[in-house]
Amino acid sequence: MSTCAICLDALKSPTAFPCGHVFCYNCIAQSIHKLNPLSTTSCPTCRASFPLVSINAALVPPHLRPFFLAPFRRLYLDDPSPSAPSDPSSFKQAAQLASLRSENAALRQSSTAWRRRAEVHAATALGLAAFLRMARTQMREERDALRKREEDLQRREMVLNKYVCASRMFLAIC
Ligand SMILES: [Zn+2]
Ligand SMILES: [Zn+2]
Repeated sequence: MSTCAICLDALKSPTAFPCGHVFCYNCIAQSIHKLNPLSTTSCPTCRASFPLVSINAALVPPHLRPFFLAPFRRLYLDDPSPSAPSDPSSFKQAAQLASLRSENAALRQSSTAWRRRAEVHAATALGLAAFLRMARTQMREERDALRKREEDLQRREMVLNKYVCASRMFLAIC
């Protein structure tokens, strides 16, 4: 913050002389009230003098009035940025932001790890399901083969029975 050359303190309600030097509004007002006669004043810094008597605006044609400016002008300076690094509260905020960022990165990393683990798990489950399906098919095939063999054996038994019966009948006849 700039300082006022009259009160040597931080500028309060900064107000500029036409020369461009800036002082507190109250400092300028007090120095003007001390003047006698109240006609001209000078800048405390560069000693340039300025008339205090302004033209009666009512006498100026309306379209020319914007060209007549007051000798002193209030300045509206932007406050210094609250995020300046010298501000201890902003240091704290920066530290919080950094810790939040690292926390976020850690969460993202662990979420990726969990997603990978879930993918592996899903793949394992899929593999297990495929294995079960294959085993079931194999068992069904074996069962079908056994059934076929059983039918075959039954058929053979029947043939054999017929043969036995026929041979007994033959023996009975003889
Ligand atoms: Zn001042
Ligand atoms: Zn000046």
